[in-house]
Amino acid sequence: MESFVKPAVAFLLLCVPSVGAGQVNKEVELIATSDSFSVRFPPGGPSPQKVLAYCESLRRQLVELWQNAGELPSWNPVCEVQVHRSRAAYIDAVGPIGAHTLGSSLIQLDRGRTVSRRIDVLMEPNGDLPALPHELTHIVLAECFGGNQPPHWLDEAAAMLADTKQKQSLHERDCRQALQQGTALPLSQILRLEQFTSPDQMPAFYGQSASLMRYLCQQGDLAKVTRFGIDATEHGYDQALSKHYGISNVEELERRWKHYAFNLDRGEADKSLSVFTVSFRP
Ligand SMILES: [Zn+2]
Repeated sequence: MESFVKPAVAFLLLCVPSVGAGQVNKEVELIATSDSFSVRFPPGGPSPQKVLAYCESLRRQLVELWQNAGELPSWNPVCEVQVHRSRAAYIDAVGPIGAHTLGSSLIQLDRGRTVSRRIDVLMEPNGDLPALPHELTHIVLAECFGGNQPPHWLDEAAAMLADTKQKQSLHERDCRQALQQGTALPLSQILRLEQFTSPDQMPAFYGQSASLMRYLCQQGDLAKVTRFGIDATEHGYDQALSKHYGISNVEELERRWKHYAFNLDRGEADKSLSVFTVSFRP
């Protein structure tokens, strides 16, 4: 979810995580496993098999979208998914940031090899798991980048496409406000920002990143964005922009994106939120 990404040396932290891998919450009583997932949650929610099937289905959809790949290798280690029924149990697992989020994900790398995948999500009273698609996107994208950390803006923008429409609308509003009020961050800063220096940067960062992602989605499919991101990480943005989108450099991208964002009317903005349609209930 929306939080600070801590710098990593030997391992990569995505979103919030301050929980040790393998830590088992006291309230957990049910478990369902497959070749790629181990789902744990307290009794009283959806059936274990249903949640597991939901995870497998989401992963298939996300890999198809971001990698254009049909083949799904088993995850080793498996992705641990910890479902929490109470906010208190969730905060217990992820730390104070859990007071403001519904999910977090953690990937630990050791010399480019994934040694741990973990998601913590808070279940809504009606059984929905609204944060699971967002957090699973982080896990799938990390795999696409093969041991390198995806750029923060791309990682969050990709995950936001899997958020509820209401949530995406709020990010769209934040982007519009930042542009109108002159508080938008320069794109060169968005593309390289890995850690916030002030909480005031967050609404513009998330809003602009989501908007930039939707702009790029109009120039090709999502797998192209992944390839662009990988090339940008290895060779820089100017070269990657030129290769994948025929855009000469970041300044030109900023000019084109601003033209898109300023001229997007409300109706078009709402339609553009439907890049990825997902169910939030197992
Ligand atoms: Zn996130």
